[in-house]
Parts: sequence; structure tokens; C-alpha cells
Amino acid sequence: MSARALAPVRRRPPAEDPFATLNDEQRAAVFHGAAQAAPPLLIDAGAGTGKTLTLAARVARLVRDGADPQRLLLLTFSRRAAQAMQQRAGRLLQRALGQPATAAPPQQPWAGTFHGVAARLLREYAPRIGLSEQFTIADRADSEDLLGWVRDAQGFGRTHRRFPLKGTCLAIHSRAVNACEPLAEVLATRFPWCAGWEAELKTLLRAYTAEKLRQQVLDYDDLLLVWHAMLEVPALAAALSARFDHVLVDEYQDTNRLQAAILYRLKPDGRGLTVVGDDAQAIYSFRAAEPRNLREFPGRFEPPAEVLPLQRNYRSGDEILRACNAVLAAAPGPFAKTLWSPRSGARPQLVAVADEGAQAAWVADAVLAQREAGIALKRQAVLFRTGHHSAALELELMRRDIPYLKFGGLKFLEAAHVKDLLALLRWVQNPRARIAGFRVAQLVEGIGAAGARRLCDALDAAADPAAARQAFVPPPAARAPWAALCGAIAQIAAAPWPAAFEPALRWYLPQLERLHDDAAVRRADLELLQRLTGGHRTREAFLAELTLDPPEACSDEAADPQLDEDYLILSTIHSAKGLEWPVVYVLNVVDGCIPSDMAAGSAAEIEEERRLLYVAMTRAMHRLHLLVPQRFHVGGQAALGDRHVWAGPSRFLTPAVMDGLDAVGPLPASPGPASAKSPGPPETRIETPAGPVVDLGAALRARWD
Ligand code: ATP
Ligand code: MG
Repeated sequence: MSARALAPVRRRPPAEDPFATLNDEQRAAVFHGAAQAAPPLLIDAGAGTGKTLTLAARVARLVRDGADPQRLLLLTFSRRAAQAMQQRAGRLLQRALGQPATAAPPQQPWAGTFHGVAARLLREYAPRIGLSEQFTIADRADSEDLLGWVRDAQGFGRTHRRFPLKGTCLAIHSRAVNACEPLAEVLATRFPWCAGWEAELKTLLRAYTAEKLRQQVLDYDDLLLVWHAMLEVPALAAALSARFDHVLVDEYQDTNRLQAAILYRLKPDGRGLTVVGDDAQAIYSFRAAEPRNLREFPGRFEPPAEVLPLQRNYRSGDEILRACNAVLAAAPGPFAKTLWSPRSGARPQLVAVADEGAQAAWVADAVLAQREAGIALKRQAVLFRTGHHSAALELELMRRDIPYLKFGGLKFLEAAHVKDLLALLRWVQNPRARIAGFRVAQLVEGIGAAGARRLCDALDAAADPAAARQAFVPPPAARAPWAALCGAIAQIAAAPWPAAFEPALRWYLPQLERLHDDAAVRRADLELLQRLTGGHRTREAFLAELTLDPPEACSDEAADPQLDEDYLILSTIHSAKGLEWPVVYVLNVVDGCIPSDMAAGSAAEIEEERRLLYVAMTRAMHRLHLLVPQRFHVGGQAALGDRHVWAGPSRFLTPAVMDGLDAVGPLPASPGPASAKSPGPPETRIETPAGPVVDLGAALRARWD
């Protein structure tokens, strides 16, 4: 054989180095450790320094160097972030492998939020942990209703002293689960007015847990709790941790104790673990996020995890960064990070306006002016503390025919008609899901609350609830409509996904016409819902992902290549995490909004609000406008009439911050906002295959002992 024949045949164009543009610090993080077994790594760095990009580049590098993409777990803050990260990593990898840009970039199948990944793993391991594979996931509202129902059934609604309401009980449940705190501690520190009810709450939460298991319904908290419970069983822990060679987590400062515990159990020696975060951007403590997770990470391992910094900000001009630094400089926290960039740009503006109407008008004018200057609407974002802060602006945008897309409001999925249709799909999947069944039954003409309750009780008592549903005898007037529903259920259950959405919609549309005067408007939402079905492999995945990540339901729409229309981005600051836009407007930078008067109780809450403003400001690449209306509507008091209060600029706009801002306005007052004013899958007993089994009921109930 000649030497020529041994020469490697080059089939691909030469691979380029996609990591060439990274700076030295970023490269150090990307190339940390071997592709098969890297020691634990923390990238602790400020906003816009390329943490997320570096994480994506690290994924690409690991796969290029031989890591199996199937064995990579990528945990992000939202599904939208996971998709963005997958695309980024895929493109980098494509370049590293020398693949043509026209080919579909390589995918990492395991990317998502903690809750999303938990739902997927639980579905897969369901038979081994005594869970039905048909289990459904209840959203917050449904969990609250279920808890309320248990609360009534247990007689807590009739106590002689005022017992905490269902929403408070669920908040207590969530805090205890996510912060891994005993109930007594949660009550003492967070809900002192409920401390006298500890024993009763324990009883209630135990009963709530039992009821969820009976119905095979899990709430958000359960997803993490069960994942963690699985990891406490040595054989399952071994299987789960052997399944992933690398676990990479973005936005680690906003993970909670339970999520950290899951990570440590998944990778007890830290090998393969990479986390990135920024404690200056911790904004989810109100949901039990624990920024200490970040600080404690290195010391959890022996030897301690390597900590790599990233210094340079690539996102914003230095003038914007100086204002951001000044906001944080007033914080008592140990934030050593100072953002800097060699790039100079426009100074940020402080825009004083008369009121919310003037604010809306100013922003709409500015948005259009930027658009004329070549900055598409999509590249501009309006950020605000709370969903309803954009109400006046939304009206103004509609009046001027400026399309927009809003993130962070749950409006779409909270709409009654969307909930109706989702409840139907959930109930088909899991006939024991009582809250879903109760809702759907009452959509049938001739069945009211009493009839729906009788039906749910019958299903509860039945060994085969799907059969019991078929056999249910409705009131005579409801016979034909009930038969129509049963027919639809059979079709939905039999059809593959997403075709199964059709019979659901077909059955529901006449109910919609009958129940709502504005059916035509609502129909458009259902059509949007239908478009979303295509992005999911199965009915379960569709329901789980929509339930888990509701705000992102709209971002799927945004990513739809057919929707090439330009639209302005409206987002709560919380939902803007990790993102960036050339032009950013922050609404209502006044005391009462930032900090929110709802969150101005403790010093820690105030500090979180300060970081919230910091997160908002650090989203801006080229232009940043902080709006300060001098007068605005009192939040949530619309019923009291046209009440205004005088607002002061946010206390976070210290003299040092003001020094870095150009003042604009005040502008004349506008007239003000115009509005002030076959049956479902049979419920079979799961035959547990050989292998370890978790007594899930015991594990979950023990939480409340
Ligand atoms: P945040 O804290 O807000 O999540 P981050 O640290 O994750 O920010 P990225 O979003 O990864 O930062 O990056 C910010 C911007 O800087 C992005 O537009 C990214 O493409 C760009 N960037 C990062 N590193 C480089 C680099 N080496 N060269 C050019 N651009 C870069
Ligand atoms: Mg990021």
C-alpha cells in the first residue's frame, strides 16, 4: 500500500476557528478541562461580558472535542433562552466542524429550564417512581384551586379564626419546597401572621399532596421535588448522573436551594458542572432564588471549583455602563464588579414627562423616530416593573397602529377561552385531573357546577375514570351536548399530535360562540394556540411546556419565520433577563414603581429592586432612556376613580447616577390615557418494571412531617 493511499481524504472544507473572536478570559472558560471529564467551573462575571456566549461556545467546544451532545444538559432560565443558546452553540459548532452554513446546525437535545427538564425526566421515569405516565402538570391558578378545594374539604374554610387563603397556602408551600426550609421557619420568617396555624397547615399540605398524587397531577414545585426525590434513591441517582457528562447552567444567581441540591446530587464531585452567573443581577429572591448558591458553589467541591472572571462588557457603550455602575455603587452588597467597555456612545437620558399619557406619547414618538433612523421596531424594547405599567402605552401603540409583542404578562394563557381548551386537552390526558374536569364539564350546555361536581366525584370514586366518564348520565337537557363532548374526547385521544387539536377546537368553537359575545376576537387567540401546537412532539410535551413556561408561548410566535412583520418589544424587567436591544426605554422610574411599593418592605427587598433597575439598564446597547412621569395613576386603584399621585424620581437615581444622565423634558401634559378608566387514555395501574422504586407518596408527604 502506498503512502498516498494512507493520506486522509478531506471531505469537508477546512474548519475555521469559531473561538478566534473570544477574548483570553472567555477562551480560558471555553477550554477549561477535558471534553470527557472537566472539573467544576464557575464563571462569575458582570452583565454583557459574554457569559451566555461563553457557555454556548463551551458547549460547541465540548462537542467538537468528542462530548456526546445527547449527554449534555443545558439549563437556562426560560425556554426562549434555551432555544437561543442551542442555536448559538449549533452555529459555532457548525463552523468548528467546517459544515456548510446551509445545513441544519447540530442540536443539543437536552436544553431547557429546570422545570421543563424535570417534566421530561419524570415522564420517562414515571413507571419506576409509581407515577402514571399520563400525569398532568397544574399551572399556578389550577394548583391554587385544587389547594382551595382540599382546604374546604378539610374544613379549614369554617374555622372560627381566619385561616390563610388558598393563595397564601400555596405561597407557603412553594417557599418551603423551593427554599428547602422547614414549614415552621417559613412561617416565622415570611408569613408570621400564619404562624399560629402551623399544625393545621401541615395537615392541609399533607392532604393537598395526597390529593395531587391521587389525581396524578403535579404542581410546579412538585416537579423539582420529585426530581430531587429520585436523586435521593442511590440507584436512580446513579442512573441519572451517569446519563449526563456535562451539566451547564446559565443565570445561576437566580436558582433556588432545591435546584442547587439537584445539581449537587446530579454531579456530586462537580465533574462536568459549569455554572455562570452574576450576583449583581439576582432578581428572583421573591421566588426563593438564593444568590448565595453562586458564592457557595466553589467551596462545595474538593478541590474547590475554579472561578473565572470576564471583565470586558461587549454590549453597551461606556456612558451607559457608567450610569449602571453608579446605580450599583449605592448598594451595600459586595458587588466588586465594575462594567467597562472601550466603546463610547450616547449618554443615557433621563426623560421627565408629565404623566403616564405623556410617557406613552413620548415613547411612541421616540420609537417611530428611531425606526425612521433605521432601527427596526424589534430592535427596540420598552421595559417596566410590572405587567400593568404598560397599559397606557399599549393603548397609545394601538391608536398609532404600532405593532408590539409583550413578554412577561400571562394574559394570553390566563384568558378564559385559552384555559378552557387547555383544560379539555388536560382532561383527555388525565381523567382524574379534577380541576380540568370541573371546568370542561361546565362548558357543556345543561351542566352546571352541581352536575360538574357530581361527575368529578364519580370519576374520583371509579377505578377506571375514563370509563366512568363515558358512562356518566348527565341531566336530560344535557344529553346531546354531553354526547358531543364524549365524541370529541374519543377523537382527541385517538388522533396523533398535533392533529388532535382539531377535534378539540371543533368541539369548543360552538361553546365559545354560545358563551362569549366577543367570540371572534377570542378565536384569534385559539388560532395562535393552534399554531403553537406544531412546535411540540406530543400532546404531553405541548401541555407541559406551555404550562411551565407560559410567557414564552408568545416568543414561539416571535420566532416564527413566517411572521416577518416588525413589532416593538414590551417586556417586564424580569422577563428581559439575559437579553439586549440597541434601544431601551424604561418606564416609570419613580418611587412606588421602582422600587415597587409592593416590595418596599425590607432592606433586602429594596436591594432586589435596585438590582432590577440595574438589570433593566444593562439591557441597552446604544441608547437608554429612563422615563420619569411626575404624576401617575395609583396602581390597582382604578375602582376608586381617576386618582393620581405625585411621584418622585426613583430613590435609585442618586446624584452620582444623575451625573451620568442627560436630562430631557419636562414635556407638556397630554390628555392622559384614554382608558382610565375513544375516551382518554385509560387510567391503568402501572406495572413497575424491575429496578429501583421510589415511594413517591412517602417521599412527598415526609416533606410536611
Ligand atoms: P447578561 O449578564 O446580561 O446575561 P452576558 O454576560 O450573558 O450578559 P452575553 O449576552 O453573552 O453576555 O453577551 C453580550 C453581548 O456581547 C452579545 O451581543 C455578545 O454577542 C457580545 N459578545 C460577547 N463576547 C464577545 C466577543 N468576544 N466579541 C464580540 N462580541 C462579544
Ligand atoms: Mg447572559
